[in-house]
Amino acid sequence: MRRLKMLSFAAALVLLASGAVNASPNQITAAIDEAGSSCRGVSQQIWNFKELGQQEVKSAALLKEELTKLGYKVTGDLKVPDDLVKDGISKTGFKAEMAGKGPGPTVAIMLEYDALPNGHACGHNLIATSGLLAAAGLAKVMKDTPGRVIVVGTPDEERGSAGAGKVALLEGGHFDGSDVVFTTHPGDRWSLDQRFLAMKRATFTFKGKSAHAAQAPHQGVNALRGVMLTFNCVDSMREHVRQDVRIHGIVTKGGTAVNVVPELAQAEFACRALDTVTMENAYAKIVNCAKAAELGTGATLEFKEPRVALKAPVTVQPLLDSVEANLAALGVAKSQFRSSDEFGSSDLGMVSYAYPTVNLTFKIAPDGTAGHSDAFRDAAGTDEGWKATVIAGKAVALSAYDMLTNPAKLKAVQDGFKEAKAKEGK
Ligand SMILES: [Zn+2]
Repeated sequence: MRRLKMLSFAAALVLLASGAVNASPNQITAAIDEAGSSCRGVSQQIWNFKELGQQEVKSAALLKEELTKLGYKVTGDLKVPDDLVKDGISKTGFKAEMAGKGPGPTVAIMLEYDALPNGHACGHNLIATSGLLAAAGLAKVMKDTPGRVIVVGTPDEERGSAGAGKVALLEGGHFDGSDVVFTTHPGDRWSLDQRFLAMKRATFTFKGKSAHAAQAPHQGVNALRGVMLTFNCVDSMREHVRQDVRIHGIVTKGGTAVNVVPELAQAEFACRALDTVTMENAYAKIVNCAKAAELGTGATLEFKEPRVALKAPVTVQPLLDSVEANLAALGVAKSQFRSSDEFGSSDLGMVSYAYPTVNLTFKIAPDGTAGHSDAFRDAAGTDEGWKATVIAGKAVALSAYDMLTNPAKLKAVQDGFKEAKAKEGK
């Protein structure tokens, strides 16, 4: 009996020496294949729920249930700063954790699951389930792997408001201790381009004085003129901003009756650029435009800087390299990657500024399919889209495993993160 035990221990040593490093990645991909059909069901349910931001209650509950089944310890009712999200994100945000066999790094995976008015036209059901697949793969190996996996359910991305899901969760401390953060996004391409536009919003309120618009206009102060002059002034400055700067505004209040000089008018602007410093510089000029309009019209300007702006993501090359290598092993070569010159903004930039973060764009739709379109929504429910989602889930899990088990790779990521941050805006 004793001899037998000794033998099997020796056999185990041989196994360890011959292929332990490769054994776990295989277990990860096998576990993901095994979880495939049930995760596909989860994806379709979320696609059908099509819950808008701050209303993703059923989607979050379903994901929490699935993560619990996988053995994760799930926490809902996460506390976040009140001034960012008024009623908290207790029913739509969550965190799931699984500890490994001992101390080690912490990898985080972010899930999104909010929809648009035309359904899952940004495919966030696939962000949620590629992350769920990765969580399933890692769950299989954590008992033999050092460190910890956390899965953060980040609601309410689409509205893009400062204070959106990730910013609130970040400030609430729910990413604390993360060494690396992973997320994915479906698209019409494979890409590891991390660029999003930094963004900050401004609401300008002008207060004037009402008067009869024909009989006594000389007694009035026209608040709407303040808004109009702000727009004109902003349009003149467009000539002198870098071409990646985007400024767009709407009039939210412009008077109530044509025969009354408007005493209250309001406009909202968003200002964006490929780096945070350029965005902030352009933003300061927009504020000056509103101040000029105040001076020019005599209407009083009310303006308060928002507490939060969205930063441009930090690109951490060694982290991209790890995902790229794993993608190649999964059959997606770098030659299939495609970059774009068309950008939006995302609250993931804020997370990427706090922790080394990578966003993998995976191809679910034909080249040129517009995001937020009905065609993209349909693609987020197809078999083709699902195949790419599985590859994305595997790439995330394998790269997370790299970070948990390979200290040299993690160190390179941490050094790359520091370097990239130091370069920001320069
Ligand atoms: Zn999206």
